[in-house]
Amino acid sequence: VNRFLDPIKRMISFLEMYQQGTVGYERFCEVMAIDPDIKDGKGAEDLEDISGNLEFKSVDFSYNDGEVILKNFNLEIKAGEKVALVGPSGAGKSTICSLLPRFYDVSRGKITIDGVDVKGITQNSLRKNIGIVQQDVYLFHGSIGDNIGLGKIDATENEIERAASMANALEFINELPDGMNTLVGERGVKLSGGQKQRISIARIFLKNPKILILDEATSALDNQTEKYIQDSLAKLSEGRTTLTIAHRLTTIKNSDNIIYLDKDGIQEEGTHEELIGKKGKYEKLYNSEFHGFV
Ligand code: ATP
Repeated sequence: VNRFLDPIKRMISFLEMYQQGTVGYERFCEVMAIDPDIKDGKGAEDLEDISGNLEFKSVDFSYNDGEVILKNFNLEIKAGEKVALVGPSGAGKSTICSLLPRFYDVSRGKITIDGVDVKGITQNSLRKNIGIVQQDVYLFHGSIGDNIGLGKIDATENEIERAASMANALEFINELPDGMNTLVGERGVKLSGGQKQRISIARIFLKNPKILILDEATSALDNQTEKYIQDSLAKLSEGRTTLTIAHRLTTIKNSDNIIYLDKDGIQEEGTHEELIGKKGKYEKLYNSEFHGFV
């Protein structure tokens, strides 16, 4: 079980609405179960035109219940680099991802974006610069176009179409009775999980953040849908710093750096070939989970 998913699922809907000013900050915190203590610090700055260099420096972290989840965790991710987090359930992969957008604050150490401590960055700016792709996607009652348009306040129809196309969503959208104007959400057309996911990917193309967090769930999608999503995520991560909780072998193999993590922290780090060559924990995982598929 992944308790981290709860806030992040809600985040998908509310983050965007909050950015749009549709919901206020207090309601946002309430729904997201965000710690209201996390506020913009005095003199917090907006990030302008970042490159997307990330660093976790000597990070310790515990949730409220006190159990130490991360101890002296260090990780550097260069701008544009693709990093895959792999390892057993409960290792802390989701926790690491939730610290970057500051859903929680570190207990010790710091996390920086382009050298700036995330605690010194306005939350608004943090959220603009980080795109999160989750498996569970929230669509509000409105048209498909409006749902994609959440990614950017003043998006034009053209931009929305382009984003949909990049997300491999345009084809199925055009087959719907009213195309982009088709109503979805509570009382609208029911979309499949894979279709909803492509809508959320389109939102992020529009939003165009420098940093991506991808949570690859292992839910069963048919092969074709899976391929569409993989393909659009690969396009999406081009030129963006990408941190993926990875379950798909192709994602892992295409990563610049794989971090094998367990309860005791980072155990192995390197490319797929390097880690296979090590014949350690990663190789074991690879052989058991992927049965040595190439
Ligand atoms: P999985 O592969 O199952 O998603 P993970 O590697 O992502 O696991 P985390 O979800 O980060 O691991 O969990 C690390 C530890 O933190 C686990 O022991 C988990 O129970 C605990 N944990 C996660 N979220 C919370 C929370 N909101 N409050 C308290 N403990 C939590």
